[in-house]
Amino acid sequence: MPVESSKLLDGKGLAQKIQGELTAQIQTLQAEIRRPPGLAVLMVGDNPASAAYVRNKERACERLGIASFGHHFPAEVTFDEVKQTIHDLNDNPQVDGILVQLPLPSHLDSTALLYEIDPDKDVDGLHPLNLGRLVRGESGLRSCTPAGVMRLLAAYEVELSGKHAVVIGRSILVGKPVSLMLLAANTTVTMAHSRTPDLAAVTRTADVLVAAVGKPGLITADMVKPGAVVVDVGISRQEVEGKARLVGDVDFASVQPQCSLITPVPGGVGPMTVSMLLENTVWSYRQRHKGSYNS
Ligand code: NAP
Repeated sequence: MPVESSKLLDGKGLAQKIQGELTAQIQTLQAEIRRPPGLAVLMVGDNPASAAYVRNKERACERLGIASFGHHFPAEVTFDEVKQTIHDLNDNPQVDGILVQLPLPSHLDSTALLYEIDPDKDVDGLHPLNLGRLVRGESGLRSCTPAGVMRLLAAYEVELSGKHAVVIGRSILVGKPVSLMLLAANTTVTMAHSRTPDLAAVTRTADVLVAAVGKPGLITADMVKPGAVVVDVGISRQEVEGKARLVGDVDFASVQPQCSLITPVPGGVGPMTVSMLLENTVWSYRQRHKGSYNS
């Protein structure tokens, strides 16, 4: 059955629109600031998925006119070497954003490395200070995937105030920050996770359902309230008839007919994440130029 495009939360299309707007903003700002925005993506080892994400980000930077200051370390790099590079980038006035591509090899403590990033260059929004700003409702750099989810809902004018949102997954990367953002938008939020008994009973009460788990097909039609808005953050690689493809947590074919709006995978939240990273970089560029992070 063909998918009604009016039901799709088209992250790919919105991401392109945002990137077009950012390109224009960069051109205007650059005339005043006299240098392009700069983003440093640090990658360790040769994880193919990470390499693809990093390539994607660097290509997007090139398209928009953001200078890349990437570092690709061998898998056996030491903590101190990565830390020193982060400190150099913190001190580099050409660099507005620093991102450490996760996951890191197990000998590197990723949380300890995140603490080394200047919070005002933390374009992934994962530094404890930025997560604290989110908890307090202060402006600051927001983590990209949750921000992408919220932007997508806003673009489609999804009414959030007074609604019930259920978020499945409680990671620091997605589940917790997106729950806080939904709370800030005046939804009543329920957070579910692997120890939630009778997940279906919880998800069926959701007006807005956000799945951030990483288990293909976890959410089936019987778990979704008719008319709900469904956001599928999950990304898993699956082999289908010898071909690798990306799938989400939601069984799209069965769920799509009964919800009001749904994100496809791919083409939903994924492209929004990259656009929010670029937007954060431009935000940091502008704030650093103005010399203020709270305005
Ligand atoms: P994560 O750290 O592994 O967290 C997964 C969460 O799912 C955990 O909180 C876990 O609960 C919960 N969970 C696991 N099995 C469950 C079950 N059967 N029922 C209910 N909850 C369950 O993963 P993550 O980093 O948050 O990422 C989640 C997914 O989003 C992954 O597929 C990832 O690839 C994807 N992702 C996509 C983007 C994007 O741009 N679209 C960005 C980031 C991540 P416990 O806490 O109890 O273990």
